[in-house]
Amino acid sequence: MAKLRFKAIELAQNRKPIEVKELQKRSELFGKNVFNENTMRQYLTKEAYNGVISAIELGNKIDRKIADQVSSSMKEWALSKGVTHYTHWFQPLTGATAEKHDAFFETIGGGMAIEKFGGSQLVQQEPDASSFPNGGIRNTFEARGYTAWDPTSPAFIYGTTLCIPTIFVAYTGEALDYKTPLLRALHAIDAAATDVCRYFDKNVKKVTSSLGWEQEYFLIDKALANSRPDIAMTGRTLLGHSPAKGQQLDDHYFGAIPTRALNFMRDLEIESMLLGIPVKTRHNEVAPNQFELAPIYEEANLAVDHNSLLMDLMGRVASRHDFKVLFHEKPFAGVNGSGKHNNWSLSTDTGVNLLSPGKTPMSNLQFLTFFINTIKAVDTYEELLRGAIASASNDHRLGANEAPPAIISVFIGAQLTQVLEELEGVTKGKLSPEEKTDLKLNVVGKIPDVLLDNTDRNRTSPFAFTGNKFEFRAVGSMANCANPMTVLNTIVAKQLKDFKVEVDKLIDKKDLKKDEAVFNVLREYIKSSKKILFEGNGYGEAWEKEAKKRGLSNNKTTPEALKAKISKIAIDLFEEMDVMSKVESEARYEIEIEEYTLRIQIESRVLGDIAGNHIVPTAVRYQNMLIANVKGLKEIFGKDFEEHASQQIHLIKGISNHIEAIHAKVDEMINARKKANKLNDAVKKAEMYCKDVKPFLDEIRYHCDKLELMVDDEIWPLTKYRELLFTR
Ligand code: ADP
Ligand code: MG
Repeated sequence: MAKLRFKAIELAQNRKPIEVKELQKRSELFGKNVFNENTMRQYLTKEAYNGVISAIELGNKIDRKIADQVSSSMKEWALSKGVTHYTHWFQPLTGATAEKHDAFFETIGGGMAIEKFGGSQLVQQEPDASSFPNGGIRNTFEARGYTAWDPTSPAFIYGTTLCIPTIFVAYTGEALDYKTPLLRALHAIDAAATDVCRYFDKNVKKVTSSLGWEQEYFLIDKALANSRPDIAMTGRTLLGHSPAKGQQLDDHYFGAIPTRALNFMRDLEIESMLLGIPVKTRHNEVAPNQFELAPIYEEANLAVDHNSLLMDLMGRVASRHDFKVLFHEKPFAGVNGSGKHNNWSLSTDTGVNLLSPGKTPMSNLQFLTFFINTIKAVDTYEELLRGAIASASNDHRLGANEAPPAIISVFIGAQLTQVLEELEGVTKGKLSPEEKTDLKLNVVGKIPDVLLDNTDRNRTSPFAFTGNKFEFRAVGSMANCANPMTVLNTIVAKQLKDFKVEVDKLIDKKDLKKDEAVFNVLREYIKSSKKILFEGNGYGEAWEKEAKKRGLSNNKTTPEALKAKISKIAIDLFEEMDVMSKVESEARYEIEIEEYTLRIQIESRVLGDIAGNHIVPTAVRYQNMLIANVKGLKEIFGKDFEEHASQQIHLIKGISNHIEAIHAKVDEMINARKKANKLNDAVKKAEMYCKDVKPFLDEIRYHCDKLELMVDDEIWPLTKYRELLFTR
């Protein structure tokens, strides 16, 4: 093992940066491999083009004749670019993307063949779906799954394959993927937000939800990463002592990007451009070898697809540059973890960002309406939002060793806090002309100015307003954004729907003017959702205590957090908003619970194996070397040997103690696992893994890490933190 470690270090140290040639401007590359509007205009008949556009913009169905035209044009376009295969590209609940390639090639008899791709192949496929998670849906209905074309996300060429983004559903209609509920949620927010917008502007016909994600990741030399079985099997290090130099010096953040990493990024950016992923920013993150990449924000469904595609692409491009990308939320203990901030906003087809303060009091009232309704939605459904980002790996961030905490709260900054305070004082019922003028001039009218200097950005908040968008920061770096985006859009849709009912009631029954009614309802919302607003430091016990007093949830582990997904509140919500049926909600819960168990189980097995087969034998070897040394000293010094061998004897004893502890704890961990595995109830099993198995991971690690400090570096089998993190 130690041989492997030193070989990997040597390889890593001798790497030369892989050259990346940039022959064309980025703007010229952008979207070249995408069947986007521009390409469609060239390849489609006017009828087919209009059919696809109305499907994208209005959600209209594409009929068979149009589908045939589109597929044949897509094929022509793809063939002109050297493509040989096509696939439906979808996002099953495994977390990875899935594809099954078929060749265009088909024989037509008489020894001849053609390239064929018909409308039916574009519109629907039946992948062998039995190996994808379904949470019991397919078993219950004994139906197969199928994939169906999502025309709102354009087809693209990946390698030599034409990829067609699709949803993945059971024959009975239940969603088996991330995209289907997201599309339904986006439909719900469109409907609810458009209704509310029409209080302010009758011309609004559609509201689009936008997402701009910021992907954090670690980039580790491929040989070094592969030399660690824990990274290979679990995506994180299960042991390893912190290096003497961590991130204390803060010299990595926004520092110069090392050449090898920079070349990887440039290569990745070029590939992203071709695929139409508008990546824009890149920089170092807090930890050594940690980086971030962010695109220009896009319509949420497309942004989700682009994030999934990019994560896949990153792995491939990294390999070309002899790197491995780690997406795990906490690959290294004691080193800053990775997240994926989800920047979210709503905009109208008239070009207005509903979360951006406007220039007139009326547009600001619209802004405040969407701003306050979002806060209210987060307040009502905070536990569900927490559930949407729960995973075994994200548990290492939320509520564990770093901010943001597992408590969901909203940060809005001092100025907007003050605006809300003033609105809270609005008179109930009809407003006097003076009050109206005062509100317009001094409260609602002043927002754009104050926001400009709203620079106090709280980095520990899980959900922060940042000028013209909300930033959901608690999302994990490994996560598919569809999950949090489905929940966020659904809860805000539901909230806006309720808001509309309440405002209409005041207008109809109490004879209030529209703006009076809006002010009245917003005032009540501000009062009732105060507990979710928090401006302070979200990291630490003080906030936990305070949050408990306020009645906010603090679900620190995934089994606790996931429960919210099948609460009556959640099931009713998703049913009411036509996002998920009860069966679908329950299936997802089951899948995620099982996924949790599986992750902990794998980590526990891998650690047991490394501790027993790598760490302990190495420690014994070193101990034998010490024993030989002590024996030698005894030969030379006779009865005085102890004076010269005291340090060695101390080490020998210490090593024995740690070995003993490792053996005992690995045994206990295996027993805990056996006990848990006997349980038939998936939820109880996950809870047991969480409560009785998981703690051993840290306990065993502790002893292994102590041994790392004692044992001769020359024979230590596992590549060390300093080697993983500081080899450039
Ligand atoms: P940070 O300081 O957190 O890095 P940035 O201002 O750089 O924030 O923006 C981060 C992300 O937010 C980018 O992906 C950007 O495209 C996205 N973003 C900006 N405006 C919006 C918006 N209105 N809606 C959604 N995302 C947005
Ligand atoms: Mg951010």
